Amino acid sequence: MWGPRTDDPPLAPARPAPLIDPFQRAITYLRVSVTDRCDLRCVYCMSEDMAFLPKRDLLTLEELDRVCSVFIARGVRKLRITGGEPLVRRDIMHLFRGLSRHLGSGALDEMTLTTNGTRLKAHAAELADLGMRRLNVSLDTLDPEKFRAITRRGDLRVVLDGIEAARAAGLKVKINAVALKGVNEDEIPGMLAWAHGLGMEMTLIEVMPLGDIEPDRADQFMPLSVMRERLAERFTLTPLPDRTGGPARYVRVEETGGRLGFITPLTHNFCESCNRVRLTCTGKLYMCLGQEDAADLRAVLRASPDDGPVADAIAEAITRKPKGHDFVIARASRPAVPRHMSTTGG
Ligand code: SAM
Ligand code: SF4
Repeated sequence: MWGPRTDDPPLAPARPAPLIDPFQRAITYLRVSVTDRCDLRCVYCMSEDMAFLPKRDLLTLEELDRVCSVFIARGVRKLRITGGEPLVRRDIMHLFRGLSRHLGSGALDEMTLTTNGTRLKAHAAELADLGMRRLNVSLDTLDPEKFRAITRRGDLRVVLDGIEAARAAGLKVKINAVALKGVNEDEIPGMLAWAHGLGMEMTLIEVMPLGDIEPDRADQFMPLSVMRERLAERFTLTPLPDRTGGPARYVRVEETGGRLGFITPLTHNFCESCNRVRLTCTGKLYMCLGQEDAADLRAVLRASPDDGPVADAIAEAITRKPKGHDFVIARASRPAVPRHMSTTGG
């Protein structure tokens, strides 16, 4: 009799061919913003009095699950949930629970999260149970006063407790810090030693010109080329060949043995290997963080319960993925892109 023998390894699920953009890049990574709201107001990200979107404009949790699942059926292997602050969205764990079925089936390699950490203590254990392996926590300072000033309201202790809870649950935590001129630049070496001392990777991010905010961006901008030179005076930085298809470039810090990433959209171009697209909380699919072109998937999702038109709209949008962005920090500090990072998802 023909048929699988019992001692054969189980058949791996067939992998769908990924969507390929006009520049031959396979689109395997989707970042999804699940809310534009946040419990913090970081000075480089939001204005003090942000106007948030009405609820009806947001994709429902069911619509988010549906659209993510269509992407996964079209070859997306990695999903990052972001915001705004994803963990402030009501019932957000319902979405994580639902999407974790794709980890279980092997259709998805990774489901991950970018968070400010304020609600992590409550959710870390369940996220780990659902199959999440790692997450990014954004933290720009270890000084409680400075933390309150940068976030305009946050309590550093709560975030540190969240990080501890995530580590205790076995999640690998990466610390993302935006380098801010005159604000946290002196603290970066100390933060690096702290993060690596706890076995956490760290990535430094340059301020990007996204969305209107009150402070002048040119005043906030701290070139990471300068930061890297300064770190090199204290640490031995060995460049690593690691590439994630994203904007980060990595070094190993020999003294700590840890990895440090630099995200430098303004001083270096990272577009040639871009494997990602971004979905906003209102269902707009942006093919590039730095360009205005987007496809309205919400309209397609709401027009029919059939997933076919959604898959077609996604495939059509990918044919419009541009070669790259053209951010420039203008002295006038007019944003290159008017939407905030919290809408598109960082
Ligand atoms: N609230 C979550 C958090 O803070 O991690 C997720 C959303 S937040 C928009 C994602 C990332 O974008 C954060 O690491 C934040 O520091 C970064 N970010 C926000 N605005 C930025 C800007 N104008 N330039 C560079 N990074 C920015
Ligand atoms: Fe909120 Fe994250 Fe933006 Fe800070 S960076 S205001 S935590 S969305």
